[in-house]
Amino acid sequence: MRKNIVAGNWKMNKNLQEGIALAKELNEALKGKTVKCDVVIGTPYIHLAGVADSIDTSRVGVAAQNCADKELGAYTGEVSAAMIASTGAKYVILGHSERRAYYHETAETLKEKVTLALANGLTPIFCIGEVLEERESEKHFEVVKSQIAASLFDLASEDFGKIVLAYEPVWAIGTGKTATAAQAQEMHAFIRSTLAEKYGQVVADNTSILYGGSANASNAKELFSNPDVDGGLIGGASLAVDKFMPIIEAF
Ligand code: PEP
Repeated sequence: MRKNIVAGNWKMNKNLQEGIALAKELNEALKGKTVKCDVVIGTPYIHLAGVADSIDTSRVGVAAQNCADKELGAYTGEVSAAMIASTGAKYVILGHSERRAYYHETAETLKEKVTLALANGLTPIFCIGEVLEERESEKHFEVVKSQIAASLFDLASEDFGKIVLAYEPVWAIGTGKTATAAQAQEMHAFIRSTLAEKYGQVVADNTSILYGGSANASNAKELFSNPDVDGGLIGGASLAVDKFMPIIEAF
């Protein structure tokens, strides 16, 4: 079922002790509050188990920021979806633009990662989004559609139903330049119609589509008030509870 979700992406920030302290502080801040969205934090790999053990994971879900495209074996430095699931994490962020740009992740490797995440019971938060040049040349719809189709459209509809999408225009990530609420809504509606064409209206209506890119306490309410924006993937503003909580409470 479609849910509102506010997910933090800590990226490569916070050492283990700082990360556990931040997760505990968020857990405490949410205690006794009724919020209208699911809350998730995406931590570095080494934090996953410690964070999951320190908080109530039914209140704050835990996400990895990546997983290996292989099941197991001689892949030095990699972390498998099964390992992530064994920590208590329930989500994995896949296809973030930083991974696509700096680590050359391709549609094909992402497809493998999605398959392995689902096979291990993890919910992929699958990121898509155009770079500035693509928006300026009005290719943004085409780019986003092909990112979704290339990595996800071989999934059976039952499996697609387990995916959360995050539309993150690359020009808005970490730049302070948020998409306007109208730009976000326009793209989210386009994504939903693309899903409807492929999987039917029911699956499309049940898919959570998050917005990411310089979302913060001042713009979250307007972004989330759009009918096709089901929450946010939040980078910088997820690193402090006093910045993250107002985004959660924007619903
Ligand atoms: C992100 O990295 O997913 C992100 C949205 O970052 P920021 O909120 O800092 O733009």
